[in-house]
Amino acid sequence: MTSYVSVIKNENIYDATFSAVEKLDADLNGKILIKPNLTLDVSPHRHACTNPEIVKALIDIVRNHGGEPFVGESSMVGCDTLKVYEKSGLKKVCENRNVKFIDFNRCKPINIPVDGDFVDEIVVAEDLKKFDKIISVPVMKTHVITGVTLGMKNMKGIQYKNEKIKLHEKGMKMLHVGIVDINTVFPPYLTVIDASYAQEGEGPVGGNAIKMDLVIASRDVVSADATARRIMGIDPYEVAHIKMAWERGIGEIEDIKIYGENIDKIRRKFKYPFSNLKRVKYKLFDFGMDFTAKLKGTTEEERAYKTVMKLMKTQPYITSKCKKCKKCIDVCPYNAINDEIKIDYKKCRACMICMEACPFHAIKSKEISMLKATKEISICMLRVAGKAISGRLYK
Ligand code: SF4
Ligand code: SF4
Repeated sequence: MTSYVSVIKNENIYDATFSAVEKLDADLNGKILIKPNLTLDVSPHRHACTNPEIVKALIDIVRNHGGEPFVGESSMVGCDTLKVYEKSGLKKVCENRNVKFIDFNRCKPINIPVDGDFVDEIVVAEDLKKFDKIISVPVMKTHVITGVTLGMKNMKGIQYKNEKIKLHEKGMKMLHVGIVDINTVFPPYLTVIDASYAQEGEGPVGGNAIKMDLVIASRDVVSADATARRIMGIDPYEVAHIKMAWERGIGEIEDIKIYGENIDKIRRKFKYPFSNLKRVKYKLFDFGMDFTAKLKGTTEEERAYKTVMKLMKTQPYITSKCKKCKKCIDVCPYNAINDEIKIDYKKCRACMICMEACPFHAIKSKEISMLKATKEISICMLRVAGKAISGRLYK
């Protein structure tokens, strides 16, 4: 089924938001939650958080439709949402417009069952249940762990406090599957991507800001994300959670009608955080997971799974770019970074939140070498083949 996406370019981002939403024939009656991306309390010049002008426009649009707007968010692990709310400039907007802001990290948590491919329940603020619809307002950014962070990834942010890191610890593929699962339980009614400024390179906090003057909006989060990726010059099939969501019928990647700009004319090649080696590694990982799935219920399954997970396992290390701002100490959920900005690898659980949060991209990931990974995979496959030939595989 055809999905509709509006792509509006206008330096006046308030007007651009109105034009983008009005083309979509949205029904914004009832209690409407506007969920921005208030990731971390860094300077607004970094453009890591949603532009308050877009939220202001959405508040006015919801009221024009007869709806009751609310704004709510829970920031990155270890970060006080209310600090980000103030620093980003959103507090002024909500107070001027007399709109209630909810810090989901300060609400009562509840468990919600998920019939997902990986996640079977998520913990969120109970308050989320009282809204009729959600408008997700992410920023267009590249992401050092998931490639990009757009509409679907913004919904992962509804998880309560440290619950957010659970998926990070399961490895890259499971993080993508989990993002899709969460979008099945809390599908945004409308996604409005803030590309007034975008981030390229080592986003979502330490990337380079690019002025785009764009708003991308859709009722279909997958189409909104796929369109944003095309504008960023990145194949939408390349980011696992967008591709998986399309395969699961959650939204459309191909059959999209664009209102507004010709995206070929506004496309700009974004610096992508993944090197070619990481892409090769990801393909190997994909292959390994499929191989593992075929061994389900056998004693080899766990061995293969562990090998594949080890292949994707990364560990952070601090480089000489470190400016000792101590942001990583605040966000580390396991107190694995000390005052001298040294990582205690016995405590580190490789969630990579510190890498995501470092404003100076001074944290890099070190990985198992391709040679070692290939050796381990080969040994594992030979063991499986040997067992299969001798008829012992399923014993
Ligand atoms: S590693 Fe990054 S976040 Fe940590 S202290 Fe250094 S500059 Fe700050
Ligand atoms: S030091 Fe380890 S545990 Fe702490 S945030 Fe970084 S990756 Fe996660």
